Amino acid sequence: MTTYFKDIYDGVATALIGMRVTLGHLFKKNVTIQYPDVKHDIPERVRNRLYVNMDDCIGCDQCAKACPVNCITIETAKALPDEELGETSTGNRKRLWVTQFDIDIGKCCYCGLCVYPCPTYCIFMTPSFEFTEYNREDLIYHFATLTPEEAAEKKANAERHKAEQAAKKQAALAAKKKAEEKKQAEEAAKAGGADSPDESKKAEGNDTPDEEKNTD
Ligand code: SF4
Ligand code: SF4
Repeated sequence: MTTYFKDIYDGVATALIGMRVTLGHLFKKNVTIQYPDVKHDIPERVRNRLYVNMDDCIGCDQCAKACPVNCITIETAKALPDEELGETSTGNRKRLWVTQFDIDIGKCCYCGLCVYPCPTYCIFMTPSFEFTEYNREDLIYHFATLTPEEAAEKKANAERHKAEQAAKKQAALAAKKKAEEKKQAEEAAKAGGADSPDESKKAEGNDTPDEEKNTD
């Protein structure tokens, strides 16, 4: 009988000892969080996922040049003279269509070196640090806002304009050369024309005495 009550006592006491630890945590500050629903605050100057505000990008390529692992790929096309691209929020005039702006975040080492040279402050680190993907290709972020068709059109326009400008330049050079040749020819002709009367005079001067001599 004594053993029976002792076992009951031990059972209750053991449960209470276990519960003491559990109940104690009800009144302590949590050390775990319900990730991903709850997240820790991140440091102010943290290096995370990059973002590019394409409204302010002028396609200057400074960020790509600064990247030590070449994970930024930028392609641009010059805007035509009658195309107005507007200005960035920092007042820089936009002259280039950014036809491609890719960041391969799988290669990025989060050094932040691309952020500092940007003249319009449009490439920056965001608080986002979760970007796992099943496919590596999905780690290449495409920021350009033009569709592939629009990008192809802008590139073709820029190439055509460049060719036209080169042709105009060639034509201008050819015209200039022709004008110079014509001028030289005219100067040579003038010089030749100036020589002829003297020679004829000389010829006349030489002939006259002989004729006079013959007459006499
Ligand atoms: S953070 Fe560094 S490695 Fe990543 S894109 Fe910028 S410059 Fe390149
Ligand atoms: S440095 Fe800035 S403005 Fe220049 S291409 Fe990079 S993101 Fe665009």
